[in-house]
Amino acid sequence: MHDHDHNGHDHHHHGHHHDHGDGQDAPSDIALRVKALESLLVEKGLVDPAALDAIVDHFEHKVGPRNGARVVARAWTDPAYRERLLADGTAAIAELGHTGGQGEHIVAVENAPGVHNLVVCTLCSCYPWPVLGLPPVWYKSSGYRSRAVIDPRGVLAEFGTVLGDETAVRVWDSTAEVRYLVIPERPAGTAGLDEAALAALVTRDGMIGTALL
Ligand code: FE
Repeated sequence: MHDHDHNGHDHHHHGHHHDHGDGQDAPSDIALRVKALESLLVEKGLVDPAALDAIVDHFEHKVGPRNGARVVARAWTDPAYRERLLADGTAAIAELGHTGGQGEHIVAVENAPGVHNLVVCTLCSCYPWPVLGLPPVWYKSSGYRSRAVIDPRGVLAEFGTVLGDETAVRVWDSTAEVRYLVIPERPAGTAGLDEAALAALVTRDGMIGTALL
């Protein structure tokens, strides 16, 4: 669950930058270098910025999150797999071939009637890369990182996800050691769909918890 002061987290052993205290997003060395390289390539006419945006969009929305969607669809269709996923997310996700950096310890948290899960990294941008790909820009923003904890219902409403008072919101704060994958509720009326068709229903935001599905 959420840990306001982070004393329980060993957040300082990350390979990436952190913003502490001032609420500002200071770009990391790598981000600055990438930006400089991109500017140079565009200036030289070697790349089209729209093409670069399309590549980033592809990894952010399509390639990465499709892995997570397959995990969710398997959990929806195979009760034994769902049990394994909830017991040991990393191992169950590895069964489907999704392993690698930033995914050494993934915990699956399941939405259910009356329970909605939301994932944030309040200190930086920890994210389960093997199942979701690259984190979206808003996930890394200081606004999301602070407000997801203080006012999760308000943040959810801004994403168009309005929850009734009867639904409890659980906010999970990611760290370098533990990343979270939300298992959305399987929608009604999908009994006839196979695993691939079910996976196609699952979005990246659903697996972060800012959307229901
Ligand atoms: Fe982080």
